[in-house]
Amino acid sequence: MDEVIAKIDDPEMLSQIEKLIPFHGHPSTGAFIGLQILNIARRVLDIKDDERVFVICETLNCVPDPFQIIWGSTVGNKGLKILDYDKIAVTINKIAKPGQTHVKGVRIFLDPEKTVEYPALHAWYMNERKVPHEEAISELIKAGDDVYTWDFVDISVPVKAKKDVRLCTICGESFISNDGSDICKGCS
Ligand SMILES: [Zn+2]
Repeated sequence: MDEVIAKIDDPEMLSQIEKLIPFHGHPSTGAFIGLQILNIARRVLDIKDDERVFVICETLNCVPDPFQIIWGSTVGNKGLKILDYDKIAVTINKIAKPGQTHVKGVRIFLDPEKTVEYPALHAWYMNERKVPHEEAISELIKAGDDVYTWDFVDISVPVKAKKDVRLCTICGESFISNDGSDICKGCS
């Protein structure tokens, strides 16, 4: 893997990878894809280092990790939302300014029409054979932005409603009721 990483000439990406690998636990093709997506979003949305970023990741697998460790967009701080669609696609937007109801975001996905040009990566993506992550990541480094497609999207800013906290009539524990129900989701 070190040989593969040595091919990266961008010092910023190298320092991102240094943070990402121990966070994720091992080098991973999916986590590297997430990192490339993060860097495309940063460029096209002009995201500064200290800006709060919201991320919607359409898979639970590997791809969410760079957004957590590099941007601090986590599930707990609501910076990261997971849609369990098993798709390699991520939508990113900066925090809205006060009073803004809509904000510009970008949805970026790994495009199979483009990965075709990179046989090992494409074989990994389509699960045609077992591809070692060194091989897939090596092609990702070669490809750079070439294998991604993105579109700008209009994102509506969620309105913060007061939390409706109730005691569940079955278990007696407190919970936030989102639909006026008196029974918590664990009991219903
Ligand atoms: Zn309950």
